[in-house]
Amino acid sequence: MEIIRRLQAAMPDQGVAATVITPGADLRYVAGYDAKPLERLTALVIPIAGEPFLVAPELEAQEARASAFATGGGEVITWGESVDPFAIVTERIAELPAGAIALDDHMWAERVLRLRESMPDREQVPAGLLLRSMRLVKTSQEVAWLQEAAAAIDSVHAQVPNILRPGMTEAQAGALIADAIVKAGHVSVDFVIVASGPNGASPHHMVSDRVMQAGDPVVVDIGGTMPSGYCSDCTRTYVLGEPSDEYQAAYDVLLDAQQQAASFVAPGRTCESIDGKARDVMAAASLQGTPLVDYFIHRIGHGIGLESHEEPYLVEGNSLALEPGMTFSVEPGFYVAGNFGARIEDIVVCTPEGVRSLNNRPRELIRIPA
Ligand code: ZN
Ligand code: ZN
Ligand code: ZN
Repeated sequence: MEIIRRLQAAMPDQGVAATVITPGADLRYVAGYDAKPLERLTALVIPIAGEPFLVAPELEAQEARASAFATGGGEVITWGESVDPFAIVTERIAELPAGAIALDDHMWAERVLRLRESMPDREQVPAGLLLRSMRLVKTSQEVAWLQEAAAAIDSVHAQVPNILRPGMTEAQAGALIADAIVKAGHVSVDFVIVASGPNGASPHHMVSDRVMQAGDPVVVDIGGTMPSGYCSDCTRTYVLGEPSDEYQAAYDVLLDAQQQAASFVAPGRTCESIDGKARDVMAAASLQGTPLVDYFIHRIGHGIGLESHEEPYLVEGNSLALEPGMTFSVEPGFYVAGNFGARIEDIVVCTPEGVRSLNNRPRELIRIPA
């Protein structure tokens, strides 16, 4: 309930009379309820003052009543198949003083529109206005959960050299890695990228039927969700056999850029300055006659928590200052179309002293005998 009280305390400044949260990371954050996003309405309603309530379909009553919100004394209102659950929400909100309703940032459009139709006098605003600053700065418990997730994915990377083989397809390797992600303690596999040879040039390539060959660099970017709800995300780059001198030289610069950017993290430094740090290092080197930095085509990082991509985004133009408790990736890469790619990614936490890396596997280009 502590988070709900903080949310209520933030509502007057934003002119918000009530906040409505449907299944997703916000609901898990606020209510400790990992509800499935299905067609029947589940919604936590938090009025500006007084007691919040959770509206849930009758057939999910058991799960709703087992949530941290309910076991902590929160009211659960279940609805049967012939009842209009939106009426329950709007009738209660109608009794509140004038003000906007804040809707969770990922609410389905059909619900947003339906709530607007039934409450035409109330402006709708994104609940991110209230939740953003709270979710941005992790508690020590949240950092501990992210550390646990990072240790789990590190243990998967430790197995990757025993999985990747020339002659195997990316998809075959990906299936084995997905198994390892679950065995390492994740409840779900969020993504498995095995990008070999020229496929490495596409940062969001997943897997394909391409057969891996001796000499291929292989970018392996993997992540999952732990029982806590917190996510892992880590990239290492492997090579089957020996890399070309050109590739190794570029990789060494990338490693330097990743390390310099990660160590630059400290309270008060801006998000964009971390991104800029890596770019400065990569601008001083060249690859195929082009500055290496020209091949670094994405921002350096994203926040991580209950979602694998969330704020803060470490990108040019974001002057948000880092604070202790912010957790995010530091993941520079280079991508040469038709040729190869590379990326090194760690999740780090900004601390009062500076920074701590949650991922700790070796970051050098990892050679797998071919
Ligand atoms: Zn990405
Ligand atoms: Zn990643
Ligand atoms: Zn990432």
